[in-house]
Amino acid sequence: MTVVTPIAAQSMGGAPASSLIDPFGRMVSYVRVSVTDRCDMRCVYCMSEDMDFLPKREILTFEELDRLCSAFVSRGVRKLRITGGEPLVRRGVMGLFRALSRHLESGALDELTLTTNGSQLESHAAELAACGVRRINLSLDTLDAATFKTVTRRGDLAQVLRGADAAQAAGLALKINMVALKGVNDHEIETMLRWAHGRGADLTLIEVMPLGRIEAERAEQFVSLAEVERGLARRFTLRPLAHRTGGPARYLHVEETGGRLGLITPHTHNFCESCNRVRVTCTGTLYMCLGQEDAVDLRAPLRASSSDELLLQAIDRAIARKPKGHDFMIERRAAPPAVSRHMSVTGG
Ligand code: SAM
Ligand code: SF4
Repeated sequence: MTVVTPIAAQSMGGAPASSLIDPFGRMVSYVRVSVTDRCDMRCVYCMSEDMDFLPKREILTFEELDRLCSAFVSRGVRKLRITGGEPLVRRGVMGLFRALSRHLESGALDELTLTTNGSQLESHAAELAACGVRRINLSLDTLDAATFKTVTRRGDLAQVLRGADAAQAAGLALKINMVALKGVNDHEIETMLRWAHGRGADLTLIEVMPLGRIEAERAEQFVSLAEVERGLARRFTLRPLAHRTGGPARYLHVEETGGRLGLITPHTHNFCESCNRVRVTCTGTLYMCLGQEDAVDLRAPLRASSSDELLLQAIDRAIARKPKGHDFMIERRAAPPAVSRHMSVTGG
């Protein structure tokens, strides 16, 4: 890990002297933190029908999560995304948002946000907005109630749509995340695009990633977004946007709808050079890359001492091991997944 000197930090836009810079010179400014592995849905590409969830003692407490997030903020992280599992099903999670909002107020953090399936959004949207959350990612793969039930195995579309309404009524900007699934919802992409843009939300399409063992064969679920883009380009005027987030999304402006379309194509490598993020599981395991197995345990240093010294040392060691890029491939039949943990464990 390179420790940035004050002079170097000035040239990096005033980042703290102790910023997290990896061996490839990338500054880690964005952390996604999973607060639970549990979920009230069982999306077919994400979980198996029968999931074994972790015992409570393994999961970081809210106090530990606060310390962990705050340690990253003290090292120059500017954006925190709370995820899961489904973050809003963990009882008491709003207390964590309230606590973390102090970093927004102090100016240490630019953005506090979350990724949610929307099932609990109706009752939480106003409080999220009051905590300084300005935009959220809402996962929604279809507008057809029966397809929604099939994809999520137990979700209720109407409840999620009420959540979307409540979020917008509370002033939260919405980005809809749609995983494109062959023969399931790929015929709905245009409908979803018009629906999302019609209500002032962005739409981001996601390719299925080989994370965790599930029943469905991923090669059969896979839809190439390059093909989807070619299809959409025949019906819409798509203009590439310069907007970059340091992640795998590319953005296009859709002239006919006036909205923004994101394409997340993790099977390409071209986003890794600008990768600015790491992920922490609900057990405090830090993954330096979504597509690699290497990880560092942050729970032991968190629990070993009430001071954050050991924790910060572990974070520094981890960033020094951030790999250059991922190693995804849609495996063919009977092959193990490229990465054995589910997205619900690493956090989306
Ligand atoms: N439960 C929340 C939700 O669904 O938004 C947050 C966690 S979920 C794991 C985060 C995102 O990961 C969702 O948008 C979901 O669609 C996506 N996801 C889960 N498994 C995936 C996979 N194997 N490939 C691509 N995206 C996946
Ligand atoms: Fe739950 Fe989100 Fe995974 Fe669906 S994608 S099963 S909502 S964690």
